[in-house]
Formats: sequence, C-alpha cells, structure tokens
Amino acid sequence: MKFLLLGAAASALVVAASVAQADQAPAAKPTYGSYGFDTKGMDLAVAPGDDFYLHANGGWAGATAIPADKSNYGAFNVLDDLSRERTKGILEAAKSDPASMIGIAYASYLDAAPVEAKGLTPIQPWLAKIQSIKDKRSYARLAAEAARAGIPGPFAFYVGQDDKDPDHYILNLRQGGLGLPDRDFYLQPDEKMAAIRTAYVAHLEQILTLAGQSDAKRRAAALTAFETEVAKLHWTQVDSRDADKTYNRMTLADLQKAAPSFPFTDYFAANQLQPAALIVAQPSAITGEAALIARTPLELLKDALLLRSLHAYATYLPDRIADADFAFYGTTLSGTPQREERWKRAVDFVKESMGEEVGKIYVAKYFPPETKAAMDQLVKNVIAAMGRRIDGLSWMSDAAKARAHKKLAAFTPKIGYPEKWRDYSGLIVKPADLFGNALRSKQYEFDYQVGKLGKPIYRWEWQMTPMEINAYADFSMVEIVFPAAILQPPFFDPHADPAVNYGGIGAVIGHELSHHFDDQGAKYDETGKLNQWWSDADVVAFKGLTDKLVKQYDAYEPFPGAHVKGAFTLGENIGDLAGVAVALDAYHASLGGKPAPVIDGTTGDQRFFLGWAQVWRRNYREPNLHQRLVTDPHSPSQYRADTVRNFDQWYAAFKPAQGGKLYLAPQERVKIW
Ligand SMILES: [Zn+2]
Repeated sequence: MKFLLLGAAASALVVAASVAQADQAPAAKPTYGSYGFDTKGMDLAVAPGDDFYLHANGGWAGATAIPADKSNYGAFNVLDDLSRERTKGILEAAKSDPASMIGIAYASYLDAAPVEAKGLTPIQPWLAKIQSIKDKRSYARLAAEAARAGIPGPFAFYVGQDDKDPDHYILNLRQGGLGLPDRDFYLQPDEKMAAIRTAYVAHLEQILTLAGQSDAKRRAAALTAFETEVAKLHWTQVDSRDADKTYNRMTLADLQKAAPSFPFTDYFAANQLQPAALIVAQPSAITGEAALIARTPLELLKDALLLRSLHAYATYLPDRIADADFAFYGTTLSGTPQREERWKRAVDFVKESMGEEVGKIYVAKYFPPETKAAMDQLVKNVIAAMGRRIDGLSWMSDAAKARAHKKLAAFTPKIGYPEKWRDYSGLIVKPADLFGNALRSKQYEFDYQVGKLGKPIYRWEWQMTPMEINAYADFSMVEIVFPAAILQPPFFDPHADPAVNYGGIGAVIGHELSHHFDDQGAKYDETGKLNQWWSDADVVAFKGLTDKLVKQYDAYEPFPGAHVKGAFTLGENIGDLAGVAVALDAYHASLGGKPAPVIDGTTGDQRFFLGWAQVWRRNYREPNLHQRLVTDPHSPSQYRADTVRNFDQWYAAFKPAQGGKLYLAPQERVKIW
C-alpha cells in the first residue's frame, strides 16, 4: 500500500497548471521573504489562535486567484507549474530528434490537426468490439481486455506485494464499476449530490449521442440506475483503507465459488493470467457485483464499457469528446472552468507514458547534488528524532518500543530519483498517432505490472517520477520516497533559515516516516509484513489516542453541514501530527544546544510553525473541496496547517488566547508519537 503527501482529485483529470515560471539561476537569498517565509502573504489581522492557517497565509489567499484551468492552487501547484515548464523545455528539444521516443510522443499530442481529422476513427475498432459482445462470458473477457488498455471495468485489479508475504507479488482485486468518484455521489441525499447526479445523466446522454448512439436518454438513465445498485454494494472509503478488512486471500477457485455468477477464470485468462491466489479487497462488494452483472441486461453492460472507454480516452480524441468529458469531470465535479492548454496536457501525456525517460534528463538538469546531500542529512536527523520520541512514549510497552526501533532502522529512504531507470524498449511510438500511442503505452504499462508476478520484488522501483510535487510512504517496501521536484522552495530552500526548512521538508519527511506508524502503517512490521508487532494493550492505548484525533477532525466543517471525516483522514492526520513533532525535535537537535537566532523579530519555533503553514497555502474551488471531503484521505490544507494547535511549543511561541477558535486545553491536545 502506498500513502501520499497530497491527494489528486478523484476525477481522472490531472491537476492543471498555468502560471509559468522561468528557470532561475540559484540566488544567494531565499526564494520567499528574507528567511524563507513569505511574510507579505500573512494576515496579521487574524490572530494565530483563531486561525493559524490564515494568520500565516491570509494575505496570499486573499490576493491569489485560482487559474482558470485549475481546481485548486497553492505551493504544490507553483512548483508543478515550474516542473511542467522545465519538462516542456526538455520535450521541445527532444521533438527535433526524429529518433527520440519522448519527442515523438510529445509531438503526437501537441499536433491537434491529425486528431481532429481522424475523428472517432481510431477508437472505432474497439467500440465495434464492444458492440459485438454476444454473451456474459465474452463481456468478461472484453472487460479484462479493457483493463489492459487502462479502461476501468466492473472490477479493478493490479499487482502488488502480498501484505502478509511481502517478498512476493500477488494479484489484487478491488471493487469497481462506478463512473462517479465514490458511492456517496450516488447515495447521499443532499442537494449538491443530487445536482451532480442530474448532470451526470445528462453527461452520459451527451457522450452516447456524440458517439452516434440512439436512444441515448433512456440508456443514460438506465446506466445510472445500474451504477447506483453497484454503489450500494461498494464498501465505504473508511472500510476500504482498513488493511485488515481488505486482506482476504483467496484461491481463484475460492473466488469463483464465492461469486459463481461471474466467469473470473475467463476474465483473468483473457490477459493470460491464471493466479493461484489473489487478494480480494472487498469480498461482499465483489460477489455482489458479480451477481448484479449476472442479472443485468448485456446491452447495459456494453454501454458501461463504451462510456468508460470514451472517458478514459477522451483526452486523445477530438475536442468535441474531450470538451464534453471535461465539462462534467472538470467543471461540474471540480469547478474548473477551462481545460489546460494543449502543451500542458502533452507534457502530462509523456510523463504518464515514459516518465522516467524524461526524469533522467530532468534530474541531470535540475537536481543539484548538494540538494541530495542536504536531504540525506535531514532524513537521518528526522529518523533519529523519531527514535528519541519512541523512547519517550509513556503509552507504549518496552517490548513494542524495541520493535518500533527495529522498524525505524529498516527504512529505505529514496531521495530525488531512482538508482536504476526504467527501460521502455519494446514500446512502439508513432508520429501523428496519438490514440495508438496512448493505447500501446497503457497496454505496455499493464504488461509491465503483471509481468512482476513470480519475480523478485523490484526494490529499486519508484511509483512517482522525479518531476512530481509529492512524496509517499510504501508499507510493504518499508520505504519513504521524495521526488526531486518537491525538494525546492518553499519546502526546501538551501538559503532559508533552518527552522523554515524543518517546518517544510522536515515535517514532510516526518509525515512520510510517520505513515509507517499511523493507524494502518503501524500494522506492518519491520519487514513490511502485515503482522501485529505490539501487544494488544499497546494497540488499545494507541487507539485511545487516535480516537481523540478522529474527534478533533470530525469537528471541522468547511461548509455548513459538510464535515471533514476524521476516520477517513486519520492516517494522514497522524502523519501530520507526528511529522511536525519529529521535525520540531530534529530542528531543536540541529541547534546543538545553542538558542535559535531571532530573525525579523521571530523566534526559531515561530519560524518553524510558519514554515509548516506556508507549505499548505492553497485555495480551492468549492466543488473540488466538496469532492475531496468524500474522496481524499487528506484533510483540507487549512486543517493540516492547524494541527499546530496540538503542540505545547506552538502555545509557547504564539501565546494564543484561551477561548480562541484553535485553543485546546493541555489535556485536549493530542500527542501520539
Ligand atoms: Zn500522507
């Protein structure tokens, strides 16, 4: 399982970017403000104890419009814009080399004329195949073929490490079959969701019509009704992130017996897969869907495949399809008014299809060795701080502390870029064949992933490209991973005051590290195995603390009646809470017993907390934030910044008044790690 620093919107759209920043020669002064923090972006009229996020970022938030092609905008997007601008430069150069695969792929997206001229012709053979399905067995086989082409079908499956045997890969099967981001979109009775459902039916009707289908209105309504039945079977997000509940190892024969009405054997065989065993994440949803499919008219299942195909490939098809797709998935669901310019989508296409081929060039140009060296040291300091914190825990038994230390010692930090780059040989990229390039790339990726079955674990592998502004923790790999592009201001600035860097990238390192000790990560031992390594009493004590955090976040209400889900966001909230704690300790240790300097009237601890708040500056479009409350395991950025209210040091640094909105009495402050 993989846990990110930042969640993407659940719609299939890549987060957009627009403002371009020119490459800058390294300056001797910090990028932000005089010590690495943008003091001009503060709102000093807001008391830190009422809303620390706005105190630190209110000036920026009020003065910053979200670009028309984005659903949200903040520190991550500024760097993403820079990353894409740089990647564009790399790809523009590659484009002039007729032998460059990334250049050909980029040009094939960039040139809209052939895409428009071909119309739906490139996807017609596939659509015809869907229409030719004669029975449920051939439907199952085609649904599997669709999965290989990156088209979501009734179920999702992927290859990952076996949680209870992490030295082996295994096939995982998960619930699927929805066109909206989550079951709640079908089942919640509130007005906003009802309006989205109405828009969804109209959207499906429009796409069916554009694809030349008759009787579109009735078919769109029937498909939505079918998906609503699927949604009722789906597990909730909370249950679906539970590592124990979702670990259900079955043989293929077991699965076939539990869900006799769907030909799983044929389904897997269509992709030359004969899994001896697999992990079924949500058994009741899978068996329920299998039974539902058995009693559903074939025509309806074909419509689902047709519509998912046009959605998955919309961006590679003419604008009349792509614009209609965006109008729903981009504008209705996320509130984004405009599609991105073509070059940005072209950059993303190459990043998705051959990311490491671009990454190689990117890190050689834009990732200084000094940054890697500084990060190596920071990671060491943060891990050491975590070790000291574990020793000091009052709720944990000594035996568990010893195991926690073992786990801490087992971490592999990956910084910047992979030691071994992926080789894309065998992937065929052709000029002026965007659809074909996309299809072959998705099939190539699928084959690469299922090709892992039976092989030793690819320990060198990265699940993000160096150009990404994110980070992740992988429980089975026992690793924390930081792509090159996040190691830039405001997260990390070699010219910033150390307090700001510890509040930024230090807490990000702490966040990823702490995922391995969050409510799910802590279930995995030092070998990456899902295996309870502490006593039941330790688990009970831990649960008592995490319940307090669930309640704290449940109380946040970004819109009237719409709350943060404390249980759903718990892992991320533990990551933030513990991440800030270890980073602050590491910062203090880095001072070597000397007092922190006062800079521009601020203390070291003040700068640390301000640095943390700064990386979470972010404006959201309302629909995007609504969607995230349902689908994103991360809390909205303002509440991530406000986790400072749990720290005694924050109270000492900012002296918030009792009775302020963020004020917590000492016994209400949550301390876990
Ligand atoms: Zn996270």
